[in-house]
Amino acid sequence: MVTEERLLEISRGLAEYIAPMGRPKFIDQDLKDEPDLRDVALEYLAGYSGTLDFMNDLKIKDVNFLSTGQLRGILNVALAQTRERGGRVPPEQVNGLALRGYYKMPNNGPTIVIRKWQDDGTSVVGYEDPITQRVEAFGSVHPGGAEFLIWGKYRSNEAIKLIADDFFTQADTLTREGWGKEYAKLTGKCWICGTETHVEGGSMCERCAEARYAEPGF
Ligand SMILES: [Zn+2]
Repeated sequence: MVTEERLLEISRGLAEYIAPMGRPKFIDQDLKDEPDLRDVALEYLAGYSGTLDFMNDLKIKDVNFLSTGQLRGILNVALAQTRERGGRVPPEQVNGLALRGYYKMPNNGPTIVIRKWQDDGTSVVGYEDPITQRVEAFGSVHPGGAEFLIWGKYRSNEAIKLIADDFFTQADTLTREGWGKEYAKLTGKCWICGTETHVEGGSMCERCAEARYAEPGF
C-alpha cells in the first residue's frame, strides 16, 4: 500500500533530483543514467489513484513490459504533483527570505501577507483584500527548505497558483524585499509587522528594523 504521503515524498524527491539539471521534465536518458528511477516510477504508479487515462491504462499493464517512454511519463506525472501542491523556494533564496511580512506585488497585484504561525517557524500565507483589509489565507511556508504548500480548496485556483509561484519561486530575495518596501510606501506601515512606521519614508518600524538587521544575512 503506497500512501498519499509516500506519493508526495516521491514527487518531492524527483523535483529535487531534476532541479540541478535545469530542465522541467524527465527525458528517456534519465532512466538510462539512473536505473533506480524505474523502481521509483513503478512505486508511484502502484499508488496512483488519480484520473489521468495515461496512468490508469498503465496500471492494468504488466509492469515488466513498460517502455522507457512510459516510465518517463510516470515520472513527469509524479513531478507535476509537487508543482500542483506548491514547491520549493530555491535554496539560495531561503536565507534572505523573511518568512513574515506584507508584500505589494507589482502591476496593481495583490498584497501577500506572511505570518508566523507555529513554533517551528512555519508561516501562513494569504492575500489581503484591498478594501476590507481582511486576509484570506491560502497556504503555508515551511522553514526547513522553505517549501510552500497551497491548501486544499485553493489548489485548483489558477490565479493563486500563479501568484504563489511568482512570489516564492520566481522572485528573488531583493525583488521580494522591494515589494515589501512598496507596501510600506503605499500604506505608511512597517512591511514586516504592519504597524505604523512613524518614520517618514521608513519601510520598517524601529523594532523590526533592529531585529531584522541583527539577523545574519542582512
Ligand atoms: Zn514592524
